[in-house]
Amino acid sequence: MSGVRTMTVESYDFIIVGAGSAGCVLANRLTESGRHTVLLLEAGPASHNPWLKIPVGYFKTIHNPALGWGYRTRPEPNLNGREIPWPRGRVLGGTSAINGLIYIRGQPEDYDHWRQLGNVGWSFDDVLPYFMRAENQADDNTPLDQAFHGRGGPLTVSDAADRHLLCEAMVEAARECGVERVDDFNAAHQDGAGYYQVTTRNGRRADTAVAYLKPARRRPNLHVVPDALVSKIGFEDGRAVHVTFTMRDRNHMVVASREIILSGGAINSPQLLQLSGVGNGGRLADLGIPVVAHRPHVGLNLQDHLQAQLVCRCRQPVTVNDDLQSLTGKARLLWRYATQRRGPMAGAPSPVGGFMRSRPEVATADLQFFLMPLSVARPGVVDDFPGYTFCVNQSRPESRGEISLAAADATAPPDIRPNYLDAEVDRQALITGVRLLRRLSLAESFMPYREAEIRPGDDVASDDEILAYLRRTAATMYHPVGTCRMGADDHAVVDPELKVRGVAGLRVVDASIMPSLVSGNTNAPTVMIAEKAADLILQAA
Ligand SMILES: Cc1cc2nc3c(=O)[nH]c(=O)nc-3n(C[C@H](O)[C@H](O)[C@H](O)COP(=O)(O)OP(=O)(O)OC[C@H]3O[C@@H](n4cnc5c(N)ncnc54)[C@H](O)[C@@H]3O)c2cc1C
Repeated sequence: MSGVRTMTVESYDFIIVGAGSAGCVLANRLTESGRHTVLLLEAGPASHNPWLKIPVGYFKTIHNPALGWGYRTRPEPNLNGREIPWPRGRVLGGTSAINGLIYIRGQPEDYDHWRQLGNVGWSFDDVLPYFMRAENQADDNTPLDQAFHGRGGPLTVSDAADRHLLCEAMVEAARECGVERVDDFNAAHQDGAGYYQVTTRNGRRADTAVAYLKPARRRPNLHVVPDALVSKIGFEDGRAVHVTFTMRDRNHMVVASREIILSGGAINSPQLLQLSGVGNGGRLADLGIPVVAHRPHVGLNLQDHLQAQLVCRCRQPVTVNDDLQSLTGKARLLWRYATQRRGPMAGAPSPVGGFMRSRPEVATADLQFFLMPLSVARPGVVDDFPGYTFCVNQSRPESRGEISLAAADATAPPDIRPNYLDAEVDRQALITGVRLLRRLSLAESFMPYREAEIRPGDDVASDDEILAYLRRTAATMYHPVGTCRMGADDHAVVDPELKVRGVAGLRVVDASIMPSLVSGNTNAPTVMIAEKAADLILQAA
């Protein structure tokens, strides 16, 4: 191979591809005992961008090309052919470094469903200890039921840093609409409204690079290599044995004596499997990729939360838009953050929300809603009026999409086809969701604030009009999963031990292995998956 250089240390016990939510957890856990050598390869940099540290920095980082992959979907057939921006972190910490910080695990029933699909070891009772092992409830949090929560784990979870007037109105509005207040979304039941907990520590972002990688980086048995784009997994006799990556325009090859673990996330893990010859044999052959294993389901089963928004103009100058439109307002935000680590800069963009059912006959809550005490005209730019935004997504969509190769080239973005709103049940649930947002916005508690509904506006009223609005405006909630589906059946990409079927020495450990979306945000579940995977890998070693 021309231009290939072998690294000084040629062989590691384990090679992990991707230092994101999952990869950083694995790097820490697999090196903890000191018995195994681990190489962690990350395509992005070890960035010192200060916005990565400050929770509100989310608005500055999600579309920053120096920190992300800058993906877009292919034209979406059910969203008027729009190409939806799909940010993904490309930096130590991965997407956990640029996400919205909300700490939600999903419902116990989500994991029991995984188990019912044949995934032994993944029921809620099985995975709860891993959520708890990861977790460090901050000292000053409101105490929560210890049967569900952990102290002393690497991932610090904090209570909301602010109780904005509009957020308080939201909790009260939900109560007026029959949704009771809850203080803990991560216990036995999820239904209710309240403040989300966030992955921050002392008012700073606690991504997995901070929580897991930093404490492990001095270990002599861990080698972290940023700016290293992995282009291929190499196989010998059906066993994954080496990894090729590009760094500073040079190719390198490293060998794994035990296992290679893909933690590239729901887009890049299936991309890398396909680039390495594990995928739909016919399609790979068309691209000139030698087929290692014909696994036609690699990249299928793509699921994501699609969000709809409703924006109101506020009659009082209390929104974050107001703060950001004046120098004194900005100074006030900054002062609160700098002196107290409080206020909108210290928390999630959507600090408050909840879960409810779209129909009484649905077994568990199937809609998640949020309030942002601000509104944006376009990414990173707030509206020039005082605005606040309600958001909703359907928790367990039935539409399925696909990640496939556009070219036999690791630097070329894959084709991303989420196929949003393909299923009628998804369309109906989101239409109901928009109606719910409108009910919340019209509740008594919002009357001191609500001047008018700006988006979609009062003229969007019938189901058809709401659906047309969704097609015009709905966007990702940033939770793609499922493209390397875990399952006991033959079509599954990985088995319940996360080993890639059809080859040896290779696992996938990240959000892509989820058989079905969980009812909530996906960072905490991905951390849990990696915590559990670490045990599986170490037991095998
Ligand atoms: C804008 C946004 C907001 C979000 N908000 C929330 C939230 O509030 N709460 C929540 O729970 N979840 C949220 N999420 C989702 C959550 O953060 C992700 O589900 C989770 O981080 C996925 O983790 P992962 O390990 O699967 O992938 P990632 O964290 O994306 O990690 C994959 C890593 O692999 C690297 N990589 C990929 N390919 C290669 C390659 N070929 N070579 C080398 N390295 C490679 C990537 O650069 C990346 O660092 C949000 C996501 C986004 C984008």
